[in-house]
Amino acid sequence: MSFPPLEALNLQLNALDAQGLRRVRRHVESVCQPHLVVDGEALLAFNSNDYLGLAAHPLVVEALREGASLYGAGSGTSHLISGHSQAHQRLEEWLSIMFSSFVPSVRVLSVSTGYMANLGVLTALADSSKGDITFFSDALNHASLIDGIRLTREPFQVYRHADVADLSLRLSSCQSGTKVVVTDGVFSMDGDIAPLTDLLSLCEQHGAWLLVDDAHGFGVLGNSGAGALEHFNLRSAQLIYMGTLGKAAGVSGAFIAAHEHVIEWMVQRSRPYIYTTASAPALAHALLTSLRLISGEEGRRRRAHLQTLIEQLSTAPIPANWQRMVSSTAIQPLVIGSNQAVLQASADLKAQGIWISAIRAPTVPVNSARLRITLSASHSTQDVHRLVQAMSAESFL
Ligand SMILES: *Cc1c(COP(=O)(O)O)cnc(C)c1O
Repeated sequence: MSFPPLEALNLQLNALDAQGLRRVRRHVESVCQPHLVVDGEALLAFNSNDYLGLAAHPLVVEALREGASLYGAGSGTSHLISGHSQAHQRLEEWLSIMFSSFVPSVRVLSVSTGYMANLGVLTALADSSKGDITFFSDALNHASLIDGIRLTREPFQVYRHADVADLSLRLSSCQSGTKVVVTDGVFSMDGDIAPLTDLLSLCEQHGAWLLVDDAHGFGVLGNSGAGALEHFNLRSAQLIYMGTLGKAAGVSGAFIAAHEHVIEWMVQRSRPYIYTTASAPALAHALLTSLRLISGEEGRRRRAHLQTLIEQLSTAPIPANWQRMVSSTAIQPLVIGSNQAVLQASADLKAQGIWISAIRAPTVPVNSARLRITLSASHSTQDVHRLVQAMSAESFL
């Protein structure tokens, strides 16, 4: 090799190996559910965000097939050209009804991924402010929120994780005409829920928007599965809600629910929304079935079972030198510390047929490498029991 940029890349890749930071993708050969075949090996997995087990639900799978017959495999072009199908429209209308209790004059925009939804709403807000805007971002926010704020090239402040007092001081001393507080609803790597009631009253006091990324709450929290806003019983025109549809909803995609003016502005001006091909209408069609399941009896049953599993795991013993994070959600992280130690723990569990991914920096802070256990309604109590047994093995004592 004598092309210097390639040599430089190779050196940096080798450095990742030395730090235990090289990431590898495994090849899953079976349907999305806890009992997987991975590179030919049978494993019990605890790392999917398919919290309700809908990804492999027969009715959702059948609806996807039906959607493909009705609309074809793709959308052909962007929403503003001719890619906005009747299925997308129905999905948005269903979600609008679901969110009408939480945001007055609500309208919903369906977007192809949560990452794009965050880029889309953040840049649209910045674009409406004529350069007079400041973002306030929780220290543990998801990468897509951070990247969305960066893309605006507008000023931002990072407040201490879930610290309402710190945020209050920052809002008080900010003169910007538009203020936007940005937070995960359920924090993706810690599993704790943001103090949304206090955050919203602070935002109302300061005339700020509150953007809630509820990727891990939608479908899971709230009596009807509407997520964090339902969980806390919130209602405000200042709320902007981002929910994803590839996690608990089991399919793919995302949406923004907000006052109709916010949504109409996004349709007019949000570049990450406008300049991309609409998702396959068949996905939206499948999502209609998924949403019916989420808000109906089956959803309630699955959420109740998930809650049983959360209690089972969060009260079980863990190895003495691991630290359990305080979490009441399906995300139950165990902090181990160093990259090498977490990789070793992950490998030891794998030797017992259990697959939990090792999460390292930069996804989480340095020296807080962890096993991020996620539970799903498609796990059985026996599955969780197997995990607890595996963690009590010789190698972890
Ligand atoms: C997964 C996730 C996203 C991105 O959603 P995708 O639909 O997977 O692009 C955004 N925010 C949070 C907190 C997430 O966990």
